[in-house]
Amino acid sequence: MAHSDLLGRHRAVLPPWVPLFYEDPLEIESGSGRTVRGADGRDYLDFYAGVAVNILGYDVPEIREAAERTLRKGVVHSSTFYLIREQIELAERIADVSGIDDPVVFFTTSGSEAVETALLLATQYRQSRQVIALRYAYHGRSFGALSVTGDRAWQSQGLSPLRVAHARSGDKRNGGMAGLDDAAYVRACAQDLQEMIATSTPERTAAMLVEPIQGVAGAVPLVPGQLRAYADVLREQDILLIADEVQTGWGRTGRYWGYQWHGVTPDLLVFAKGVGSGFPLGGVVGRRDVMTSLPGASLSTFGGNALSCAVAAATLDYVDKHDLPTHALRMGALLREELAGKLTDPSVGEVRGAGLLMAIEYVHPLTREPDAARARHVQEECRRLGLLVGLGGAFRNCLRIMPPLTVTAPEVRQAAGIIAAASGSVQVRGDSSAAPSKSLD
Ligand code: PMP
Repeated sequence: MAHSDLLGRHRAVLPPWVPLFYEDPLEIESGSGRTVRGADGRDYLDFYAGVAVNILGYDVPEIREAAERTLRKGVVHSSTFYLIREQIELAERIADVSGIDDPVVFFTTSGSEAVETALLLATQYRQSRQVIALRYAYHGRSFGALSVTGDRAWQSQGLSPLRVAHARSGDKRNGGMAGLDDAAYVRACAQDLQEMIATSTPERTAAMLVEPIQGVAGAVPLVPGQLRAYADVLREQDILLIADEVQTGWGRTGRYWGYQWHGVTPDLLVFAKGVGSGFPLGGVVGRRDVMTSLPGASLSTFGGNALSCAVAAATLDYVDKHDLPTHALRMGALLREELAGKLTDPSVGEVRGAGLLMAIEYVHPLTREPDAARARHVQEECRRLGLLVGLGGAFRNCLRIMPPLTVTAPEVRQAAGIIAAASGSVQVRGDSSAAPSKSLD
């Protein structure tokens, strides 16, 4: 069969550390709105959106028109040695919405490369290779981005070009802090950061890198006040705050940027994923003094090419015209409400996140320990019932839910019904502590 043949060819020619979802992996052939068609001939409601990338959904006329307009010019790529009108216009626009004072923008082709750029700039600016990140963080697959990642499943090696210390995330249940109320937890976190800076890092620290809501970790939000408290500690020591908005950007959490939930403004902001509607685009927007601090020349050959930038401009037009951040907030609230009413299964530990960046955590009903096998089975069952969701979490026990921001109320209700049916109907056979599978990032 053509499909099993494709899986065999994938296994033969691609490395085994590129994980696939599902026991019978899926090839997506086409899509429209929030529905994709698989090579298995079935239609699926897509609540994963290519890992939070396809924020407008599929087959969007405005996106096709922007791409075709650029292709018709006959030149897709010229390199940054030439002026690129689409890039300059997009940079102006991202500078405007960044919330950062007098910012400068640099474009890359991926989130990892954007994180790498922010780390390069911060370490150069502060003349220090000491960086602080959060436990459970995911920041990408390149050398520097990998070394700040605080999730062992994605931490392939410990040979880091940076010195990295990991501060506490928003997950207060682990590490002996369970039971503290929010205010006490925030105080403890800030004191811990102070102590870390004073004792276990060199005199200067370059930056702290933070996802305002941790995506790969399973939509783990920071505790209210936590980022504000961290930012206060950083400011005292002139340490830069970098927001990794690769998953949280462009309205997904119900605000344009995830940092806006926290009453802080970062010095540098890293973006990627949704802005390009599937065309590879990432970048950094940040304080002019930091962004201009590189003494040598630097470029990204493909970064900000005309095609990706034209599509990104059309994407942002659509986000603004339809006020997708507000829509995401409403649809996220509806999904939560629907799930609260329907998800009565005792294996559901927590439903969390903000806007349309959400996760459902599965636990063993009696011990409340993470149950990765159940999450995996629920994901399979959702597929069987016609819904695509992701899998992840620090303990691989979360369904990750990140539909296109254009999702409608009937689609949200339909998805909630499927998730509830899948959760309730799943009988986990055998040892449910079997080796966890990785989420796709
Ligand atoms: N930062 C965050 C928060 C991410 O979620 C990801 C990817 N999931 C990255 C960085 C890396 O982006 P990319 O895969 O485009 O390199």
